[in-house]
Amino acid sequence: MTIETHETLTKDLRAAADVVVIGSGAAGAVVARILAKAKLDVIVVEEGPPPDRTRTSRSVQDAMFLLGRDRGLQVAMGRSFIPVLQGRCVGGSTTINAAIVWRLPEDAWARVFKGYGLGDAVPLEGLEREWTWIEEELNVNTVDRPRLGRNGELFLEAFQKAGYAAEAIKRNEKDCIASSNCILGCPGGKKMSTDVALIPRAIADGARVFACTRVDRIEVKDGRAKIVHATVINPESMARVASVTIEARRAVVVAASAIQTPCILLKSGLGNRAHVGQHFRVHPGTAIGGIFKDEVRPWQGVHQAADSLHFRKEGFKFETINLPPEMSSVRATGIGARFIEKMMEYKHLALWAMHVRAKAEGSVSPRRDGSATIRYTPGPADMQIARRALKILAERFFDVGAESVVLAVYGLPDRLNSPDELKVFDDAPLDPRSYPFIATHLFGTARMGPDPASSAVGADFQLHGVPGLYVADSALFPENLGVNPQHTIMGVAALCARRILG
Ligand SMILES: Cc1cc2nc3c(=O)[nH]c(=O)nc-3n(C[C@H](O)[C@H](O)[C@H](O)COP(=O)(O)OP(=O)(O)OC[C@H]3O[C@@H](n4cnc5c(N)ncnc54)[C@H](O)[C@@H]3O)c2cc1C
Ligand code: SF4
Repeated sequence: MTIETHETLTKDLRAAADVVVIGSGAAGAVVARILAKAKLDVIVVEEGPPPDRTRTSRSVQDAMFLLGRDRGLQVAMGRSFIPVLQGRCVGGSTTINAAIVWRLPEDAWARVFKGYGLGDAVPLEGLEREWTWIEEELNVNTVDRPRLGRNGELFLEAFQKAGYAAEAIKRNEKDCIASSNCILGCPGGKKMSTDVALIPRAIADGARVFACTRVDRIEVKDGRAKIVHATVINPESMARVASVTIEARRAVVVAASAIQTPCILLKSGLGNRAHVGQHFRVHPGTAIGGIFKDEVRPWQGVHQAADSLHFRKEGFKFETINLPPEMSSVRATGIGARFIEKMMEYKHLALWAMHVRAKAEGSVSPRRDGSATIRYTPGPADMQIARRALKILAERFFDVGAESVVLAVYGLPDRLNSPDELKVFDDAPLDPRSYPFIATHLFGTARMGPDPASSAVGADFQLHGVPGLYVADSALFPENLGVNPQHTIMGVAALCARRILG
């Protein structure tokens, strides 16, 4: 497989293709796969480098430095700072994600797409058809018993005991050895992220990939999106190497994520400013831990093994999560001997997370240095839901014998030692600053809709008023989903590619 990088793209270059796809993550890779298979001449332009797994597997810090956007330090600013984790590499966020695959349930489809007049543009039967081949190519399968790990087993036991629906997760991986290192880009390349599963197939069908190449702007010529202007950058020093100008004979597809897609459009002076970069939605999430007498060994089992959609319609979802010690330690309060004592408990720790289908909206805009200003604050109703969800998790921990539950909520004790103490949640703070949220599911910043007055992109996936400029990622989604988004993004991107094929 050949991918151009800053080491080969050393001189200013002019190129042309039928279709230029910006981004190689969930959305971009699917578009490139379909169009290359249909014998279109495709160039994928990707800002980040191809993952070098010999280096990224050393530590979270190395992985974030080499694979993460802004070195893993991107944040949303609002009433609090919320880390917004994204991949910046070939494979995009799929390279560092947990490989959870959920087909969007029908009621969520009706709310997110049909409810906005998009039932024909994004039909559920169309998504189902696309998911079928995508699941085959990504080898989607259910986590089996041995790979659940003790964390997954405890979660399923706890939810079963309470009568709540819960299940082993469906994931895209092949021969996974359950090392729990998905966030490091999967050192053994077992996760079927798009750099492993889809981009190589697109290349085999003739697609070219320009990695380490950041798109600066898209130029409209003769009434169509026509020229893509980009800069080759050294992904480590971030120094400029060369410029690349690509003519798109048929279409430009922006698939750079719900953060970077609106930034590229705004930098190009394209799109309706009332909607491009606005309506930013996320699933704010956080985790709490249960400390068990017996060892849990959170380094055994897949990174995220079991989940529960039981409360999805109320606006939250639960998942197990195994994190490497350096990430868990960030949550451990105390210093010196107290901190060491807490870290000694690591092997007894089960970590369970929740994320909220928050109603709050934020915004995204480009900065000169290529990064983005993200503004976002969860609203009061979202905070009520977050508090309730955490209480449910804490109850479940005690139900299956946790000796204590460790929290990282400012204003609450850092540890609960008995179920009698669960009442602290009832008047826990509702200030987002008290909770260590993180955002990895991002939506809404170039929303799709039939009416140009209330949307940025038309039902034909083209930016209103700019023929030939397609948007393919979750910037399109008018609302957040309530389930993990990768699979819906891939399905929607596939529908976008079919439109281009006509
Ligand atoms: C840690 C983590 C865990 C997650 N776990 C899951 C999970 O288990 N299941 C799930 O469903 N979802 C998960 N997600 C979310 C999921 O990975 C994303 O929703 C999905 O990958 C988004 O797809 P995308 O194509 O919109 O963006 P991305 O996959 O992020 O791809 C966008 C690509 O565009 C590139 N790009 C951006 N700007 C430019 C530019 N100017 N020029 C050129 N290229 C550019 C980026 O470098 C990136 O490679 C997780 C995300 C993270 C960060
Ligand atoms: S659990 Fe380990 S082997 Fe399995 S996909 Fe994740 S990193 Fe790869």
